[in-house]
Order: sequence, then structure tokens, then C-alpha cells
Amino acid sequence: MAPDGGLYIPESLPDISSLIREGPLPYPELAARFFRIFDDDHSPGEIDALMARSYSTFPDVENAAPLVQIADNTFVLELFHGPTLAFKDFGLQLVGNLFEDQISRTGMPVNVLGATSGDTGSAAINGLSHKENARVFILYPQGRISELQERQMTCTGARNIFPIAIDGSFDDAQNIVKELFGDLEFKARANLSAVNSINLVRILAQCVYYIHAFNQLPENKREPLHFVVPTGNFGNVLAGWLTARMALPVESFVVATNQNDLLYRLFTGGRYQPGRLSHSLAPSMDIQVASNFERFLHYHLGGNGNQTSRLMARVKSGDPVEVPDLQPGKFTATRTTDNGILRNIRAARDNFGYLPDPHTACGFEDINPAVPTVILATAHPAKFPETIRKAVDEQSIHPALEALKARQPVTTNLPATCGAVRDYLEENILKG
Ligand SMILES: *Cc1c(COP(=O)(O)O)cnc(C)c1O
Repeated sequence: MAPDGGLYIPESLPDISSLIREGPLPYPELAARFFRIFDDDHSPGEIDALMARSYSTFPDVENAAPLVQIADNTFVLELFHGPTLAFKDFGLQLVGNLFEDQISRTGMPVNVLGATSGDTGSAAINGLSHKENARVFILYPQGRISELQERQMTCTGARNIFPIAIDGSFDDAQNIVKELFGDLEFKARANLSAVNSINLVRILAQCVYYIHAFNQLPENKREPLHFVVPTGNFGNVLAGWLTARMALPVESFVVATNQNDLLYRLFTGGRYQPGRLSHSLAPSMDIQVASNFERFLHYHLGGNGNQTSRLMARVKSGDPVEVPDLQPGKFTATRTTDNGILRNIRAARDNFGYLPDPHTACGFEDINPAVPTVILATAHPAKFPETIRKAVDEQSIHPALEALKARQPVTTNLPATCGAVRDYLEENILKG
């Protein structure tokens, strides 16, 4: 977040056609070439090393994001091969290494504080576990995240990781985090840093796999290309859209929502109006505020910062906001209820022989078999075994998750008050 309350964006969006024409590159090399355009703090050699390290945790480093063809025109981009089995590893492995780099340059410790409803927390924890002079405090709602997601955070065995189960909802956890970050004196004294979904490094890291996907497509399946993106905070799909503005040839993006259909209503009706949050079978998409939408709005309004901040102020007040000229644009949208998720999992398995996780299943809504389409698979199905069992009566397992079951969870229970969390941080943070 920028000091004026807005969100950082790149100074300019370069034309990356030459990077696209290169053809398939090993993933860390592609990422390094892409980041060299934006990062002028590090030398090219340092960027190469950062990318090599960040994607070394993926089993197939060279092809960290494999593209799987499931029908003549239909492909799945598998983004769940990272250490926590969801796409957030692409951003957060790199963010973890950038924090490490910053700590060694400045000599100052970092205390990361965040709230999670599932995948962000585990990916942030994995990106920073065992890093020296960094501690991670992640708040999550007690009893409201899946057992495996909780184990991913509480069974790391890393002494710099502090999961905190809050007696309250995800919103309570997030509000506590916001309040602590809002206390500038405490934030500075405690060297607090954030890793949430508005972090621009995460967005840029996600641009890379759109290029990687395009480079893997057969030449005759590249036009007109559609990307289907299961969406919550609008981060992942924004990354794709930015890549298209940098000259990746994409016909359209399908914003695939669950029953929390804020973005579906926006892109079909032109109106941004938060509704009431409902808990779905795709919990990482359960949002009623799409934080990264602000970045899209800025570009959509022709870079008019004043108009953007006026509209965002109205969005934050909870009033409905009409967004002009969204149709016809690069976005279309779908919405999938919980029953639809179960039905889509079944249909994907029966029609394509492919088993999607409940989030990815939202991307299987209304696929057009006549045009080249890439569906982003955002998590591994084994992260959500109950839903998979309900949908197709099958067991979905992954060895990394099985291994967690043997470990002893370590967590701290706190009441959902700012004071309790602040006291706990005072006792446990690294001081500069
Ligand atoms: C975070 C997440 C999403 C939503 O991504 P956004 O960038 O917030 O739109 C979708 N699926 C899974 C599995 C996730 O973890």
C-alpha cells in the first residue's frame, strides 16, 4: 500500500513481445527475464539467483506450471505443484526470499503479521519458515479452516513460525491485523511487515505463468485465447490482465466466482456492490471485497488517480458504485453455487478424466469447447478431501499432506481482541 492510501502499480507496463517470442524457457529463467524489467534494486545475476531459489521448491523446477490438455481446445494450467499445493506459492516463495534479502542488506529483523482464511497463511509460512531474523505471525479463525490447511501452518516444526487461532471469524482476525498496522508507532517499533494479496510482488510473480502457459500451447491453439480464472480478491486474474496489457495475446478472461458473486455481478451488470459473505465449498474465494480491483479500476479509468480514489472511497463506504464502460471488455464472468461445484467436479472427472479441486471446479462452468481455453487450476484436490469425496466418492491424497498427519501441531489460542494479540506480539517479536 502506498503512503497516500492507494496501491502501488508499476511505473509503466513494458511490451514483452520479445519474451513471448522466445518460446518455452525454463521457469526460473523466464521469471528472471520478466523481473529484470521491473527490479532495479538487484543486479541481473542476483535476480537469477532469487528466481532459481524461489522455484527450487517445486518438484519440476523447469516446468513449475505444467499445462495439461484435457480436450481438443481445453487446457488446465496446474498451479498447485508448489510446497503448499496452491498457486499462492508462486508469489510467496519469492516474497519470502526477498524478505531474507532485505534482512541481510539492512541488518533489521522482520516480523510478518497476517490473517488468513486458508491458503495465504500456509504459503506465507512456507515461504518464510526457517529464515533467519524473520518471524511470522498468522491469525486464523479457530475451527473455520480445513484441518489440512491448519496442519500446513501448525506442523512446520519451524521455530520462527507463530500460528495464532483466534476465537472469532476471519473478519475478526483481519480487523485485528488492520488495527495493529494502523498503529504506526507500534508498527514501526515492532518492524511489522505484511504479505497480503495486495502485495505487488505477488501479482508480478503471477504474470510469469501466463506467459509460461502461452509458450506451452500448440501454435494452432493460441487464438482466440481465453483464460478462465477462479477468482476471489482479483489478484490472480489481474496478473493475467496486466500481462495482456504487456502484449500477451489474450482474447478474454473469464472471472469465475463461487456463490460470493460480487465480481460476477460487476462484470455482467456494471455495478460494484458488496453483499453478505457466505461460506462456500471454495473458501479461498469467499470474499465480499476484491482488494485488487482498485488496480484494474485505475487503468480502466485511463490512469485518472483522482477519479479512482473517489470511486474507491465510495466502494469502501459500502454504497453501490456504477463502473462505466465495462462492456464489451476483456472480462466475462461466471458464478458457481456449492451444488454447481460438486456437479462440476463430477462432470470434469466424467467428461475429461480430470479431477479439479473445488476452486478450480468454478472454472469448469460453461466451458466453450470451440475456442482455445486455459483453465487455471489454483489448488490440488487433496487439500479438500471432504468435498472431493462428496462429489465423486473418491479419495484424493497427496504425500506432502499425508506426512503432515503424523506431526504434532503447535498453535496458540487467543481471544479475538486487539489487546490480546498485541500483548502476544510484544512478547514474541524480534526487536531491532
Ligand atoms: C487465493 C485463492 C483463490 C483466489 O485468488 P485471488 O487472487 O484472490 O483471486 C482461488 N483459489 C485458491 C485455491 C486460492 O488459494
